[in-house]
Amino acid sequence: MKRIVILGAGESGAGAAVLAQLKGFDTFVSDMSIIKDHYKELLSNHNIAWEEGQHTEDLILNADEIIKSPGIPNDAPIILKLKAKGTPIISEIEFAGRYTNAKMICITGSNGKTTTTSLIYHIFKSAGVNVGLAGNIGKSLALQVATESHDYYIIELSSFQLDNMYDFKADIAVLMNITPDHLDRYDHNMQNYIDAKFRIAQNQTSEDAFIFWNDDPIIKSQLDKHGIHAHLYPFSAMKENDAIAYVEDNEVIINEPIAFNMEQEKLALTGTHNLYNSLAAGISANLAGITKEHIRKALSDFKGVEHRLEKVARVRGIDFINDSKATNVNSCWYALQSMTTKAILIIGGKDKGNDYTEIEDLVKEKCSALVYLGLHNEKLHDFFDPIGLPVADVQSMKDAVDAAYHMAKKGETVLLSPCCASFDLFKSYEDRGDQFKKYVCDL
Ligand code: ADP
Repeated sequence: MKRIVILGAGESGAGAAVLAQLKGFDTFVSDMSIIKDHYKELLSNHNIAWEEGQHTEDLILNADEIIKSPGIPNDAPIILKLKAKGTPIISEIEFAGRYTNAKMICITGSNGKTTTTSLIYHIFKSAGVNVGLAGNIGKSLALQVATESHDYYIIELSSFQLDNMYDFKADIAVLMNITPDHLDRYDHNMQNYIDAKFRIAQNQTSEDAFIFWNDDPIIKSQLDKHGIHAHLYPFSAMKENDAIAYVEDNEVIINEPIAFNMEQEKLALTGTHNLYNSLAAGISANLAGITKEHIRKALSDFKGVEHRLEKVARVRGIDFINDSKATNVNSCWYALQSMTTKAILIIGGKDKGNDYTEIEDLVKEKCSALVYLGLHNEKLHDFFDPIGLPVADVQSMKDAVDAAYHMAKKGETVLLSPCCASFDLFKSYEDRGDQFKKYVCDL
């Protein structure tokens, strides 16, 4: 019997184990950390053998195939040993893709994945399509393939998931943008990261669709190099040479495959970045044959995703917006760009080697004050203090909200869009956003 070993028992690993067991493989799960109780229960309910807190080599190196959690780096000692033996290492999505004939719509990019994936899912669901949501969000694809049956899956894919995908094919692939991120996992080589992102289009044929942002200089310059076979669906904010979707005279236009239009004002999500997300989602739904009426309605009543430019409250004429998921400089750029009032920007956290030059002009144009929120704010002082705006230096979210509230004037907006990871002061970006919302509600 073929032996499959799953490394990492989070959402994807536990789901892959259930699918492997149901398909009759000799299945074993190993996790270096402590496995969460509900995943232990899931494994035990399916009589799957597992270990935690260690990787026992005797139980792992005899595998015929490995399913690796995207969180485990490619240079982890156990991975190096498996590679030396030549054992195939795949991702959970690759594995699950073998056992379903459902149509796959896959979304990747440096920013906008979760929003676009959720929006596509919302359109399909509202139109009554039998659809599953998977990848980085919700239940793993493998568990859904094992226990449910859908006609379509909308799958958010990180570059780490794409790394271990080989035969999997997306019927519709969406590439939102490529800006530097996670370079520590790619030997600090941008080309490696770009190649990982382009894997979203591998195995596609002329029957398939490749949707991408036409104005991304990296995507544009690398398109030929990656020899895409799928039909191309480029989108842009403006009508230009080859874009098939854009805005013209305040109308959202999609020309292919079926002509579609709606008033831009009716889009639920605001800001240029969200226009891209709405265009990508609209093209995907259009390709799947969803009616114009359903697409228009769903693009206009989508509630948005928590921690992404989320409107929290208006307190004495001051708006508070939670964009805690803005963990890199590029996403903060889009947040600032979407501001229609002066903003008090709460910025800072665990710096991933940020270059703040990208947002310097927007800070000058849009901000009336800055709040530095982090354990180490020296870099922020050095870069932003010379602009001459009022600044506050704080080490807790309560102090950040209080400081921003006191500096804000009626009609202005307090924007949490930190450019940084959250791990210096918070458990996660969700924790950071939740604390922000709590202290805003306490004002
Ligand atoms: P991801 O899943 O790729 O991290 P999200 O949809 O969670 O992306 O959005 C993360 C942040 O990135 C948001 O807070 C927003 O400020 C910014 N963002 C969203 N969509 C885009 C886009 N298309 N281009 C650039 N930035 C974006």
